[in-house]
Amino acid sequence: MGKKVVIIGAGAAGGSAAAEARRGDPSLAITLIEQRSEVSVAA
Ligand SMILES: Cc1cc2nc3c(=O)[nH]c(=O)nc-3n(C[C@H](O)[C@H](O)[C@H](O)COP(=O)(O)OP(=O)(O)OC[C@H]3O[C@@H](n4cnc5c(N)ncnc54)[C@H](O)[C@@H]3O)c2cc1C
Repeated sequence: MGKKVVIIGAGAAGGSAAAEARRGDPSLAITLIEQRSEVSVAA
């Protein structure tokens, strides 16, 4: 089973963290959790 990353908050920082993690390891399973109904488009 591959590595998993869970990021809390889909604001600018959360989106940037997800993108950076994906660049660092394309095989990661990334879960981005956001309490609101929409995510930021700023990242
Ligand atoms: C009124 C206002 C106007 C702004 N205008 C600009 C602008 O024009 N240009 C600019 O560059 N910057 C602007 N900023 C600043 C910019 O919004 C912040 O610098 C940036 O959003 C910070 O990003 P962040 O990801 O650190 O935090 P946030 O954007 O606050 O993201 C954190 C996210 O985590 C989520 N979250 C928190 N707790 C939980 C939880 N327990 N479970 C799930 N999700 C959770 C929140 O819902 C949120 O979506 C403005 C800020 C404000 C307040």
